[in-house]
Amino acid sequence: MQEKTEILVVGAGPGGLACATHLARNGARVVLAERRTTLGDKVCAGGITWGGLIRLVPADLIERAFPEQHIFTRRQHVTLREKNPIVATVNRQRLGQWMADEARSAGVTLLTNARVHSLSDERALIEMGQGRHTVVHFEHLVGADGSNSLIRRFVGLQSTLMGTGLNCMLPRQAERMEWHLETNRFKYGYGWIFPHAQTTSIGAYIGGSALPAVLLKQRLLSWADNQGFSIDPGAIRAGRVNFDYQGMRFGRIWLVGDAAGLASAVTGEGIYPALVSGRAVANMILDSGYAATEMTGLLHKHRRHRRLVQIAGTHARLCSLLMEALVLLFRWKLLDFRVLEMAE
Ligand SMILES: Cc1cc2nc3c(=O)[nH]c(=O)nc-3n(C[C@H](O)[C@H](O)[C@H](O)COP(=O)(O)OP(=O)(O)OC[C@H]3O[C@@H](n4cnc5c(N)ncnc54)[C@H](O)[C@@H]3O)c2cc1C
Repeated sequence: MQEKTEILVVGAGPGGLACATHLARNGARVVLAERRTTLGDKVCAGGITWGGLIRLVPADLIERAFPEQHIFTRRQHVTLREKNPIVATVNRQRLGQWMADEARSAGVTLLTNARVHSLSDERALIEMGQGRHTVVHFEHLVGADGSNSLIRRFVGLQSTLMGTGLNCMLPRQAERMEWHLETNRFKYGYGWIFPHAQTTSIGAYIGGSALPAVLLKQRLLSWADNQGFSIDPGAIRAGRVNFDYQGMRFGRIWLVGDAAGLASAVTGEGIYPALVSGRAVANMILDSGYAATEMTGLLHKHRRHRRLVQIAGTHARLCSLLMEALVLLFRWKLLDFRVLEMAE
């Protein structure tokens, strides 16, 4: 089969769905190809922030919302409180389904079980399962295909700045949202407890290669045990987080979200950057003079997070000092939680 479209978007994560929906709402012809059959199934803790997405998603998608954040280091515990929820949790499958409904009603042709296999500058070969293939000819191509992006490799970019995240959804409830910046276990990464409605996300992340995934997993298991959560090692899922941003536009090929390397090096937060960059790319395709000012603040935060991880990664003692100093500044109210968020 052969098909022609103005824009082919690859990947129906938050970045691809946001981009495709915005394009279609503004009259463009869009095909969105997603290799999976189930939308939104992603290794993720599902944390979203007040400055970022909490106010942008329907209230019934929010699982739990937390005006209090508990942050621990080896020596300190600080509780941050605000009037509004600082962080809330969403179920990625429900978020994905909701965004997919929005995309379809905007007129996006959403192909599932459709894996982009190979590319040229004008067309993509898509495997549709059961030995079927489709060739899609496009004017613009948007790579929203996550941290291991085929489109990113096609434009010749390597990804050397990568984080590793491990997540386990435990079938039990927890009361508090917690961040554990324990440098002896997680170096400049952290362990988290993110309660959802009926489950709890327990996980760990580190932005860089200082802790191989196997070691991070061992440390997550022993830390979780100390916190009173017994985790079956087989229930832990791993994912990479790309923060190696090198640009979004490569002629008629565009990158958004994790494919562009826009996640936070410090926290691994990537849903908000994916949505913002998805919409920005859509606007740039629709209007070649579009200035994409929404990217300015995001890229500024992104650079700061990247630098922080690079500095913390230089020496173990410096890393420990930085984490303690950060939490001290939180305690003295000289910094607020926003420094850890990707939204301004
Ligand atoms: C353990 C862990 C915890 C995390 N927790 C959080 C959190 O709490 N909050 C937060 O904001 N972020 C979190 N993140 C990061 C967040 O999940 C990502 O940054 C976000 O999903 C990026 O969105 P995206 O649309 O760019 O890519 P993705 O969500 O990865 O979507 C990419 C899509 O492309 C599809 N695809 C890939 N290749 C192809 C192909 N060849 N053809 C067709 N389709 C393809 C994939 O199937 C996928 O659906 C976490 C990450 C990890 C690993």
